[in-house]
Amino acid sequence: MSTLAELGEFEVIQRLRAVRSPAPGVIVGAGDDAAVTHPRDGFDLVTTADCFIEGTHFLPDWFTAREAGRRLATANLSDIAAMAATPRWAVESIGAPADRSVEWLEQFERGLDEALFAAEAGLVGGNITACPTAFFCLTLVGDVAPGAAWSRDGARAGDLLAVSGMPGRAGAAVRLAAALGDRARDPLWRDVLRAWIAPTARLELARRLAPLGVVSAAIDLSDGLAGDLGHVCRASAVGAEIDMAAWPEDPHLERAARELGAAPDDLRLGPSDDYELLLAVAPEGREACERVARDAGVPLHFIGRFTDAAAGITKIDGSGRRPLGGAGYDHFAQSES
Ligand SMILES: [Mg+2]
Repeated sequence: MSTLAELGEFEVIQRLRAVRSPAPGVIVGAGDDAAVTHPRDGFDLVTTADCFIEGTHFLPDWFTAREAGRRLATANLSDIAAMAATPRWAVESIGAPADRSVEWLEQFERGLDEALFAAEAGLVGGNITACPTAFFCLTLVGDVAPGAAWSRDGARAGDLLAVSGMPGRAGAAVRLAAALGDRARDPLWRDVLRAWIAPTARLELARRLAPLGVVSAAIDLSDGLAGDLGHVCRASAVGAEIDMAAWPEDPHLERAARELGAAPDDLRLGPSDDYELLLAVAPEGREACERVARDAGVPLHFIGRFTDAAAGITKIDGSGRRPLGGAGYDHFAQSES
């Protein structure tokens, strides 16, 4: 084991560069003043950024360095999926304490590289600096055919509301870890914890859905379903109603809810960064979307519909229709708002 201080900046950079896989379309990669990449003819570029601060966005007690690196890549890849775009090139800024081991950093980079490489994207550069708290900022560039990007502002009253995967599990895992400590490592909670520690960006689902031409708006779930649905409704100037009876059963989430003394529906709708896709779908497109999701092996459930803005955002359950409370995670309030 060597620390970053023992190795020195330039040796550390060499070690990190050795971890990276090549990406297509790179003319000048890492090691020069800037990277040069060749965009596909006629495509538009799509750019997103995300930052992980150790202790805030990933907890070293719960994430190996490799898992943390994978998750940072996934957070960015998920934004590209929500735009129906293809990820291409990333640059990364790292801050790390001088006494951190280079092996730890290599593992972080390995996780990051694995997730990018699996998505046919790659790191083309970055920089590293000493900082008392470790942080990792990734900027990811993708591309999309002109006019083909999904956005948040296209939902219309009458569109159906669909969501991939099993939202709420990631948030439930955070709460289980806080409430149970090491007991949350019991295999009983494995499926719930995996949603937090090793989520999957829904790039493949988006790639298959986009050509159907029936998705009118999209967002990825990084704050929580209620909060992210609120973003779509505001951008599209529509309301929405969620039919809780249309949700799939999720025995893992329901068991977590019992343990936490929480209502399962509150976990489904509350703060949770699941990196699933929330979609507005033209009603005639429902069956095609369901078929495509089945072929992709990704759960896709139709859980409600978009309405006129005046109706607000409501949920319908056994006790009737109610306004939806809880707006998701607010990074500045650091709580439900
Ligand atoms: Mg997003």
